[in-house]
Amino acid sequence: MVRLRREFGERGEKTSIPMPPPVPFPKRGKSESVVVNSLQKKLGQNLYQSEKNFGIVYSGAPHPLVRVIQEIAEGTYIADWEQEMFKGTYMVEKEAVRMVGSLLGNGNVGGFITSGGTESNLVAMRVARDLMHKKHPEVILPITAHFSFRSAAELLGLKLRFLPVDANLHPDMDRVGGMINQNTIALVCSAPEGFLGVMDPVEEFGELAARRDLYLHVDAAFGGFILPFMRELGYDIPPFDFRIPSVDSMMTDGHKLGLMPLTTSFFLLRKQENLESIPTEDTVIHTITSTKPGIKAAAAWAIMNRMGMDGYKQSTRHVLGVVRILQEGIESIPGLDLVMKPLITILAFKSDVYDVASIFEQLRKMGWGTELESWEGAEMIRLSVNPNRDDEHAKLFISALKQAVRYAKKK
Ligand SMILES: *Cc1c(COP(=O)(O)O)cnc(C)c1O
Repeated sequence: MVRLRREFGERGEKTSIPMPPPVPFPKRGKSESVVVNSLQKKLGQNLYQSEKNFGIVYSGAPHPLVRVIQEIAEGTYIADWEQEMFKGTYMVEKEAVRMVGSLLGNGNVGGFITSGGTESNLVAMRVARDLMHKKHPEVILPITAHFSFRSAAELLGLKLRFLPVDANLHPDMDRVGGMINQNTIALVCSAPEGFLGVMDPVEEFGELAARRDLYLHVDAAFGGFILPFMRELGYDIPPFDFRIPSVDSMMTDGHKLGLMPLTTSFFLLRKQENLESIPTEDTVIHTITSTKPGIKAAAAWAIMNRMGMDGYKQSTRHVLGVVRILQEGIESIPGLDLVMKPLITILAFKSDVYDVASIFEQLRKMGWGTELESWEGAEMIRLSVNPNRDDEHAKLFISALKQAVRYAKKK
């Protein structure tokens, strides 16, 4: 069955949670080989092998150094409520946060590693709410913003005011002024948004936040670990980070393009003291999750030191090369049209000639993972490329795509 991701702003169906039949608790322990074999069989039910999955950025292994780190840091942990016992691990986390801050225009940031972009965005909205303390807090954000802001709104009692976007996913900035009222606490924008990788005009949001005295959070889940390196490589990247003075907080995911293990995200605050708005005299911790494995911080710290600016530049050049092969391959196939020129590692195509869902199905039959999406009434196939893919994967994908098109239904 083909499940189409819905367009922004549409209310969908409730997400279902399928469960297997009851599973008895194992009476006796089994041998390791039996356990490993049956586990491998279960995992074999995953639709795609990692190398053949262009449907999602998370597919594939993180930096190989992670295996070494796992041995060194196994059993260590970090928690706000226990900073002394694992002092070393704690400092490694904070240094990793400061490294990412330096990358994003401010070496003096406060913050922490979270369980993912979703938690980072939740924390940002909590800080904004507790800092601005208004009775009926409202947040203005483009409709393309990540769903985690809807969770944040539901959990934190915020009202979201969505900015519509045009066919190129650019938010209608002329509307923002009129949407700001005495309840508005924050503006949110993305660098870039996660559907097609389109940059929001962060500078414009910055000017508005400064002029109207609002909290500004930038979701750089995808961008944080590629835009700075693209800039170094000579790409024209507009300001999107703490170099814009009114940006209060940012987040970026190390586990997307930073080669870090899932689940590693960074929440960064320009002013560490703004964390004091969270009533930790009651809540104890600033984060949503409490005890975190030290391995994540250790891996983040080690990978950034191992890669350095030059390593990440190399990895960026590499992944953009893979994207270029995909882009040119798609453009060379009659009847397929790129939805837009990709900025980062996300690209999508549609077709006036072929039934796009049937191309998706054909690819799936051949073991190639993509995502079927819809936007502006047109179905499209979306690809998201992890830096651990290589040119060969992209070329094999394009030959599979050519074959899929040959067998696809026409419109
Ligand atoms: C991926 C993503 C997130 C958060 O995703 P997690 O799966 O929680 O890490 C948030 N915002 C954007 C724009 C994203 O692309």
